[in-house]
Amino acid sequence: MTAILVTGIGELVTLDPEQPEATPTDRADVGALGLVHDAALVVHDGTIAWVGRASAAPGADQRLDLAGRALLPGFVDSHTHLVFAGDRAGEFEARMRGAAYDGGGIGSTVAATREATDDELRALLAQRIAELRALGTRVVEIKSGYGLSVEDELRLLRLAREVTPHVTFLGAHVVPREYAADRAAYVELVTGLMLAAVTESGCAAYLDVFCEPASAHAFDGEESRAILLAGRAVGLGLRVHGNQLGPGPGVQLACELGAASVDHCTYLTDGDVDALAGSSTVATLLPGVEFSTRHPYPDARRLLDAGVTVGLASDCNPGTCYTSSMPFVVALAVRECGMTPAEAVYAATAGSGRSLGLDRRIVVGAPLDLADLAVLDAPSHVHLAYRPGLPLARPLLPAAAAAAPATSPD
Ligand SMILES: [Zn+2]
Repeated sequence: MTAILVTGIGELVTLDPEQPEATPTDRADVGALGLVHDAALVVHDGTIAWVGRASAAPGADQRLDLAGRALLPGFVDSHTHLVFAGDRAGEFEARMRGAAYDGGGIGSTVAATREATDDELRALLAQRIAELRALGTRVVEIKSGYGLSVEDELRLLRLAREVTPHVTFLGAHVVPREYAADRAAYVELVTGLMLAAVTESGCAAYLDVFCEPASAHAFDGEESRAILLAGRAVGLGLRVHGNQLGPGPGVQLACELGAASVDHCTYLTDGDVDALAGSSTVATLLPGVEFSTRHPYPDARRLLDAGVTVGLASDCNPGTCYTSSMPFVVALAVRECGMTPAEAVYAATAGSGRSLGLDRRIVVGAPLDLADLAVLDAPSHVHLAYRPGLPLARPLLPAAAAAAPATSPD
């Protein structure tokens, strides 16, 4: 197999604080990134074969010079709702004129999605995947949740599974309109027939629930507990939408039941923060939602200072955040959630990766290929937040396809 030397890396984000060639720093946030300046790495057969200073790099079959650009693991977007039809621009526009968000608009996306054919949904999904890949995202989690019937949830999970292994069953997104008068019957369906069909399909790795007593459409603590326990009983990992619209039981429930992640975390009590700090559950912040709903942003500083593992994700969905741009999320997290640029980059790669059971460090032996890396048209990770709104991040692979043969004989 071909060994490819990537050199001329102005700043390499290894996510490895033990990296011996990392530039020394007394800042813990920067140290966590394991930054190597004037770096190079060798990828061989889908594995990182060498990492260090460019001046000490070994030879390789092919060579790619990044001319001083920064290189990092591709972003991990651990929370999206990408399989849907229709858009809700009108709802966004109404919110910007002062209308409140209560989770009720999801029903209109359910109707549009149920009407769409598989091929229509597949084409929409492909377009959205292309968008996020172009901005440096490598790993994406996708939830169902706009089907809300056995047949339609299975359909969305199958379509999601065609593009990623990180698929989450979100039958408990909201109570669909046809069950509005009998919520218990819908919970019974989700935990019974629907979950059985999902398990049999083998398409989902996780189960998620929108635990939000502040919304009449979402699920309260007891409903959420029943749904999560049912998912755990059939071997699915757990994820929770919690504490988005107000204080609630979502975070505590996620920590108690060993969820991989609890997402949003906008309204937290001291007890919630303590529970997160004492658990292995990742607190995943989705500040694109607060941007799009004009709600208060989550306080990442408070979580980080308490020792909580924080992730960042887009929550790309047609209602409350119709962007999959992780650079935008990083910029928001820095500007609005109290994170340093280093903390935000760490959260958008290592933190969100951890919530999917992934190790994203660029270390020798790691199963990472060129396609797993993102390059910045900038010398440092700081530029992601410093120069918001610009397409600085992109996948390394298209450039790698043009890698020139090595000029040296070795
Ligand atoms: Zn969501």
